[in-house]
Amino acid sequence: MRDPGASGLKTSIVILGAGVSGLSTALALLKRGHAVTLLDRGTAGGESSWAGGGILSPLLPWDYAEAVTSLALRSMAAYADWVADIETLSGRDAEFWRCGMLALDVADPERALAWCATHGMAAKPGSPQTVALPSSVSDRNPVWLPEVAQARNPRLVAALRGAVLQLGGTIHEHCPATGVLTQAGRVTAVQTPEDTFQADSVVLATGAWSGLGLAGLAATPHIRPIRGQMLLFKLEPGVLSTILYRSGLYLIPRRDGHVLAGSTLEDAGFDKATDAATLRRLHLDAAELLPALGDVQPVHHWAGLRPGSPGNIPVIDRHPDFDNVFVNAGHFRYGVTMAPASAELLADMMEGKAPALDPAPYRWQAAAERRWSDAP
Ligand SMILES: Cc1cc2nc3c(=O)[nH]c(=O)nc-3n(C[C@H](O)[C@H](O)[C@H](O)COP(=O)(O)OP(=O)(O)OC[C@H]3O[C@@H](n4cnc5c(N)ncnc54)[C@H](O)[C@@H]3O)c2cc1C
Repeated sequence: MRDPGASGLKTSIVILGAGVSGLSTALALLKRGHAVTLLDRGTAGGESSWAGGGILSPLLPWDYAEAVTSLALRSMAAYADWVADIETLSGRDAEFWRCGMLALDVADPERALAWCATHGMAAKPGSPQTVALPSSVSDRNPVWLPEVAQARNPRLVAALRGAVLQLGGTIHEHCPATGVLTQAGRVTAVQTPEDTFQADSVVLATGAWSGLGLAGLAATPHIRPIRGQMLLFKLEPGVLSTILYRSGLYLIPRRDGHVLAGSTLEDAGFDKATDAATLRRLHLDAAELLPALGDVQPVHHWAGLRPGSPGNIPVIDRHPDFDNVFVNAGHFRYGVTMAPASAELLADMMEGKAPALDPAPYRWQAAAERRWSDAP
């Protein structure tokens, strides 16, 4: 049996799932002096956290419940410093870039601008001069959000992984948690096919798989995989220098000229297949927004499984069956955006500290009462 707490640190915590949720929780707990071991059934950051676009904001922020807004805005305010710290610790560049986001065809721009003013989010009507758009799309109710940033997912998770290791965390890849050992109402260890890991506390950060549960642990309510397909193009650097969003489609420029186009929202179980019809449709829609994309073929096409949750509201709470088991899962479309504040909230709960955010909407019981049919 492995005992990750034998080092004399505060407590030994085993985190299941090394996506952005698990890695950011690990980072927060390591900084508070705990010993942390992460177990992932695949590679660290290899699932949704790798596949996503890395926009650090809800797409149309004014369309979501306050529970989404509070976690997102708190994270967005912290992001630049959070990433800088991770980059310093790991020596890796996460390509954080405050490139702004231009939303087109906004249904009610006045309401959107009023929402931004109330929530302290910079916003202006119209397009910035720096964005050249075909007139067919540029004159349709644009709202410019200059402070919206992005990170490049694979680089962010690599930097997070490096930071966790640098702070003394341990990561076991290809190591699926299969069950738990319990004693007197507490989980004492996590089982994997090869090993057993002793734990003072356990965190479930298993993304889309949280809705499946684990032998001995109830499944997190209503979480299910929602597939998203993405296309990647390569243009000359500078052709697009801001995120564009219109009617469900976004384009995300990277500094080196890559442009991502996404995404779909598909309820297809744990199937990460891509299909040619979706490729054609995404390509056509992307080229309508940015004609330069009509002349090139995508260099990559992939799908990821978002940890879907009703209302896009994650579960960040103690597990109802065991006092020493916690959950940080179900961030759906915005798990990268919400990572810093979610990790902070969970770490505060685990340490019995007063959280900076009202935890009520993220409670297990609140999630159990939500329904997919209630989602906005
Ligand atoms: C196409 C697409 C675009 C997106 N765009 C954005 C965006 O622009 N901005 C944004 O903020 N978010 C975006 N997202 C959402 C974001 O990627 C997710 O919300 C976030 O990555 C979830 O992180 P996670 O760590 O909870 O889950 P994951 O990254 O899926 O990690 C969960 C981990 O748990 C592991 N695991 C599961 N079961 C077990 C087990 N039994 N034992 C051990 N390990 C286990 C898995 O292997 C996996 O590595 C997008 C997602 C997709 C798919």
